[in-house]
Amino acid sequence: MTIWDTLVGQRPTIDALEKAVAGHGMTHAWLFTGPPGSGRSNAAIAFAAALQCDQGGRGPDCPDTCHACHTVLAGSHADVSVIRTQKLSIGVDEVRDLVRRASLSPMGDRWQILIVEDADRLTDQACNALLKAIEEPNGRTVWMLCAPTVEDVLPTIRSRCRLVTLATPTTVEVAGFLQARGIEARLASYAARASQGHIGRARALAFDEDVRNRRQEVVGMPARLTTLGRCMDAATRLASAAKDEADAITAELDAREKTDLDAAYGVVERGRRPREYGPALAALEKSQRTRAKRRHLDVVDRGLTDLMSVYRDAIALATGAPGELVNEDIREQVQTIVDSSTPELNLRRIGWIFAAREQMLEFNVPVALALESMMVALKAPQR
Ligand SMILES: [Zn+2]
Repeated sequence: MTIWDTLVGQRPTIDALEKAVAGHGMTHAWLFTGPPGSGRSNAAIAFAAALQCDQGGRGPDCPDTCHACHTVLAGSHADVSVIRTQKLSIGVDEVRDLVRRASLSPMGDRWQILIVEDADRLTDQACNALLKAIEEPNGRTVWMLCAPTVEDVLPTIRSRCRLVTLATPTTVEVAGFLQARGIEARLASYAARASQGHIGRARALAFDEDVRNRRQEVVGMPARLTTLGRCMDAATRLASAAKDEADAITAELDAREKTDLDAAYGVVERGRRPREYGPALAALEKSQRTRAKRRHLDVVDRGLTDLMSVYRDAIALATGAPGELVNEDIREQVQTIVDSSTPELNLRRIGWIFAAREQMLEFNVPVALALESMMVALKAPQR
């Protein structure tokens, strides 16, 4: 295993980054773009590790056992800072903090590296602060910004960055990655198809039966949306399953953070609470609520992606497009949708799913409400 191994199907990118590590085409600002799950932040972190690696020229081939690689990957390297947000935006204070660090000389003898994982979430003010820092580079500083597409970043910023574009890995590449980790061929190919090139999702589908079952429930919905009652039922089930899944992810994290906070303030069971503890606890709870909301939306969003894949398959099947379906395993159900619809209708349905996503993410429409109106719109026409 080398640090590049998690970047599935990104050979051209890896080659370019390896050259930069060796000194060809190195620059002080990089913009990593790629669809969700293609591994843009993993690419930035792997690149940072290669740049800091103790093994010098071997860089990328270092089997992540050298101290520098190990600490970069573990998030504890003194000269690599990462902004990773649970919030919907990154404010100017967080960026100013990073800019301050960018102006410092590295502790080691290599680079001072600043990684912004969600550069598309920078507020305008934060962008301006960042722009100033990127415009006046310091010889040892390297900025790495990550965003879904170049359009998500201000032109003034992206024009100063060298662009690294990650591709969506193919089904064969994802399946190969899973098989190399001990997943048998059939399951690997199912998970690769169903993930649509999202590596994290593919792993979860391959290794976790609960995740597979939840996905099966969602992709089974379109064929059953024949009455108003069933539409309402599907909306409720999707919303509550997403809530349960999101809660399961956050509950453990929340409890750990609370324990850490209590320890930091010396709070023990029924003990005295220092005056500063109250506000600190309130701030923690507020950020945990924000994170829980974002996780819930993320899980719902993934459900919507799965739903869309069924209608896309229906269009592919109706128009005789070559290749396997994303939902090859429920081909018969997809066929029943084809039989009761037209490709035009299914295209409109995909549009309604996008509209529901936009209502929830951009306009804060409550999840249950947005899903209900979406499911009703998706209902099969009366015959
Ligand atoms: Zn190393």
